[in-house]
Amino acid sequence: MILQLQRRHVELLKQETERMHPVEACAMLFGKLSKNEASVEKVEVAENRLRSSTRFEVDPAKVAAAITEAEKEGYEFIGLFHSHPAPAAPSSVDLKYMRLWGDALWLILSSTDGKLAAYQLIDDKIKEATIRIE
Ligand SMILES: [Zn+2]
Repeated sequence: MILQLQRRHVELLKQETERMHPVEACAMLFGKLSKNEASVEKVEVAENRLRSSTRFEVDPAKVAAAITEAEKEGYEFIGLFHSHPAPAAPSSVDLKYMRLWGDALWLILSSTDGKLAAYQLIDDKIKEATIRIE
C-alpha cells in the first residue's frame, strides 16, 4: 500500500505532535482510496481525551461527525494518525485497535526521533505502507 501525503498535512501533524508532546496527538485522515494507494486530501486533528503518552482515544461522536462531513465532501476515511513519544511502531494497544478498525491505515509520528511510518493490518499481520510526500 502506498500512502500519499501532502507536505502541508505533514507539517500540520508535526506541529500538532510538538504541541501535544509528550501526550499522544491524534488526527483522522480522509481522501481518495484505491486498491493499492491512499491519497490524503483532508486531515482532521482530534483531541486525545485520555491525555496519555502511551494511549489515545477520540470521542466516538467526533469521529462519526468527521466521517459524515468528509463523506459529504466526497472523501473516504483512510485511517488514523497518532504520535508516539517513542519509536513510530504500533504498540500492543495499537494492535488491539487495529483489529477493530479493519483495513484502516495507521500513520504514526515519533515525537522523539521525528520518524513517520504507516501500517496496515492485512490478514492479521502488520504491514508497513510506503509513504510518499508531495
Ligand atoms: Zn500508538
